Amino acid sequence: MIVVMKQGATDSEIKHMIRRVEELGLKAHPIYGTERTVIAAIGEKRGPVKESLESGSGVAEVVPILAPYKVASLEVKPERTVVRAGPFSVGNGHLGIIAGPCSVESEEQVVSTARAVKAAGATALRGGAFKPRTSPYAFQGLKEEGLKILATARAETGLPIITEVVAAADVPLVAQYADVLQIGARNMQNYRLLEAVGIVNRPVILKRGASATIDELLLAAEYVLNGGNPNVILCERGIRTFETHTRFTLPLATVPYLNERTHLPVVVDPSHGTGHTSLVPRMAAAAIAAGADGLMIEVHPDPETACSDGFQSLTFKQFEEMMVLCRKVAEAVGKDISPAQTSESDAGEK
Ligand code: PEP
Ligand code: MN
Repeated sequence: MIVVMKQGATDSEIKHMIRRVEELGLKAHPIYGTERTVIAAIGEKRGPVKESLESGSGVAEVVPILAPYKVASLEVKPERTVVRAGPFSVGNGHLGIIAGPCSVESEEQVVSTARAVKAAGATALRGGAFKPRTSPYAFQGLKEEGLKILATARAETGLPIITEVVAAADVPLVAQYADVLQIGARNMQNYRLLEAVGIVNRPVILKRGASATIDELLLAAEYVLNGGNPNVILCERGIRTFETHTRFTLPLATVPYLNERTHLPVVVDPSHGTGHTSLVPRMAAAAIAAGADGLMIEVHPDPETACSDGFQSLTFKQFEEMMVLCRKVAEAVGKDISPAQTSESDAGEK
């Protein structure tokens, strides 16, 4: 249910309704909009909740939430969510450009990549320190040493850092270093991990599982939002189909579909989505044309020697050329691709 308060409802009327919702055994999730406040009443309902809440003072109406996800839905929050971390701003017309190597391998590799992608217009640096690999024999990442390297690159460039967390037990450690936590496709339905990142003060980028439906993605986001963390970015990274020419199939219709249903920003990862360097730039541009709020792109100083995903990584020059193309498309669709205005010292602010 959504309790829609009247315009001009007082603070005490709002507080009273939050209490009433809780007394009914439901979780109250207030959203203070510019025009009006709504209180999402979430949980299993028992008894005549609607009738009971409708009579509250200051209440305009009580309406059911039709979507299976609640807090993520546009019905509950019609204003678009903008997620920020220093110069990285994503949503509501602002494009977040996330770039960096699949795996953190060395300081030299990460710092040189950070400098190059920043110069080309990236607004966040991404690199994996904890890698979820299909094979237990593949490179698993440098772990905390990798997090330290990312922090050095942030100090050198001012770019906020995004890195994956693969286990609930690692959340405090990764959150100590990262500005934004990435939940990978393999963990999209790791509900204990989603709960763990729901209670930390860091934005979360949630990648779609390779076999997950869009409703499952939104319900996974709901776990994070329900913990009290409102800063969730969704990421389309391709799904598994019968097609084998590309590593995954990248369904760009996800972007406008999500835009019609959720206020959360949506970014696209054409690196994993295609699995081929040569396909990445045009799919990145297509994602922006489809209305994406940002991109996640794998970039490596020397893709041939990369410890992971070199075959889908761009060189510095290729990334720069991709940005030239993306800038044109962004301008055509009225999106701002430049870094958010901020002082350098805001980057990585905890
Ligand atoms: C990655 O971002 O390097 C990664 C492992 O992606 P995904 O979780 O989408 O497979
Ligand atoms: Mn990768």
